[in-house]
Amino acid sequence: MSAESIIDALVAADDERPRTKAGFGVSGLGGCARKAYHQMRHDDPANPSVKRLPAILGTAIHAALEKAADRLPNALAEVALFVEEVELAGTADLIRGGVLDDYKTTTLKNLRWIKSHGPSRNHRWQVMTYAYAWNAEQPGPRGQEKPLIHMVRLIYIPRDGDESDVLVWEEDYDEAVALEAIEWAASARRAVADEAPPAPEKHFSYCANWCQFYGLCPGLDTSDALEEVDDPWLADAAEGLLVAQEDIREAEGRKEGAKDALDGFTGIVGDFRVTWQRHRYGYYPKVTRIRGGGDER
Ligand code: SF4
Repeated sequence: MSAESIIDALVAADDERPRTKAGFGVSGLGGCARKAYHQMRHDDPANPSVKRLPAILGTAIHAALEKAADRLPNALAEVALFVEEVELAGTADLIRGGVLDDYKTTTLKNLRWIKSHGPSRNHRWQVMTYAYAWNAEQPGPRGQEKPLIHMVRLIYIPRDGDESDVLVWEEDYDEAVALEAIEWAASARRAVADEAPPAPEKHFSYCANWCQFYGLCPGLDTSDALEEVDDPWLADAAEGLLVAQEDIREAEGRKEGAKDALDGFTGIVGDFRVTWQRHRYGYYPKVTRIRGGGDER
């Protein structure tokens, strides 16, 4: 069986999954405002080329986690919640004793960033808004039957990692963050009522792979007027990429200088053995540390 036929079968099975009509839900908070606009209007998808596999794998992992939740005492799994003010539905993955968990499947390289910089605005708004909806549904401090949420956790599970790579990010529940997210949703609802679609927010190369409304919406091109966005997490990512690119350029320069200095040398020097290996465009020095530990380069 070819990879294509396996993927076709996975997509067909996913299409048969019972699901609510795709509209805008809590999971879309803080994402692309134009996408929220189309989802709130229940516009038909326009892009048949959306990549499906990561979401299908995420669904499979969620199903396993939901089953496993049966073994956790006093845990509620897959809790349907609703934010009345902006008519937003969503499903929290797990609620246990005042702690609300949301699972996120991701990759190891994405995890490295989250470990050092925390979750995206979208993930944080989502989990805080679930907690807000849950707390709003409880009768109140006196008559309350179930504990109010006081802590939210995002549990990141890398598809390409193992148990030791799972990252738990936790934070005290902060109603102000949830209200910020709810105001964002209210503004998207106003745009729908005014029939005023927000400007596209993502580059078209991203949209072509990941947005069902690409086609209906053109996405952004670099020649379009660019909006200024207030998102410290994204600003950190932009700076991180720039610094990493400068480091790579600097390391490339050091590498070429060292290579020139070794020109033709073959033998053992200091703690290193130097030989030459054929590469695509000629020979390149191969340095192996033979004393003092460390990796071969
Ligand atoms: S196509 Fe791109 S810019 Fe347009 S709604 Fe989708 S994600 Fe947003």
